[in-house]
Amino acid sequence: MKIVLIGGPGSGKGTRAKHMAKHLDLPHISTGDIFRHHLENKTEHADEIKSFIDFGNLVPDSLTIKLLKKRLEEDDCKIGFILDGFPRTMEQAKGMDIPEHVLFFDCHENTLVDRLGNRLMCQDCKHIYNLKGQRPKVENKCDGCEGDLIQREDDKEEVIRDRLKVYKKQTEPVLDFFGNKVTKFDTGKEVEESVEEILKFLRKEPVV
Ligand code: ADP
Ligand code: ZN
Repeated sequence: MKIVLIGGPGSGKGTRAKHMAKHLDLPHISTGDIFRHHLENKTEHADEIKSFIDFGNLVPDSLTIKLLKKRLEEDDCKIGFILDGFPRTMEQAKGMDIPEHVLFFDCHENTLVDRLGNRLMCQDCKHIYNLKGQRPKVENKCDGCEGDLIQREDDKEEVIRDRLKVYKKQTEPVLDFFGNKVTKFDTGKEVEESVEEILKFLRKEPVV
């Protein structure tokens, strides 16, 4: 099964994707994670990627599509995948096979700004925390691996507003492109409840 998740930065699609991947036994492919991996490992693409990400801009379609395609060619993706953060432009949407499901996480802009501004990431295992929601047990330490928690460069306030503008302008039109493949989900719910709702939908069970 090929599933695409679309939602603004901070809509919780990454967290939901991780849970879904475990339940459905599908690989979770995040273009944001792919890019951050290049930055950490200082690959040949790192400088180019950094010059976009740090300012809240999208990495160019050609490079994004190239790196994603490479990942999707790996064996684990043969059974399908959960795409988190791709496609983000019309060009990217047109460049991929139409997925079975496009899950849209609708979320109010003020909520997104609030979530991103309070978001911390473990620099080692990349687990996401939120100072207003899922706080770490020990301040600034990851519950799982005790790594240090950091704020992503692009989660700084100045950059957040730009990312939201980019999302509205470039990514929202993609929803129209996918038409009746799109199902909207409420992101105000707790993660577990929300994931349960999504899984029921995918299994075609009635949602109460
Ligand atoms: P979020 O969903 O919180 O914005 P991501 O980790 O998905 O964070 O993405 C971080 C950054 O990586 C984006 O702001 C953008 O610069 C870049 N990026 C991720 N996916 C794409 C994509 N499909 N096309 C272009 N740039 C992307
Ligand atoms: Zn960690």
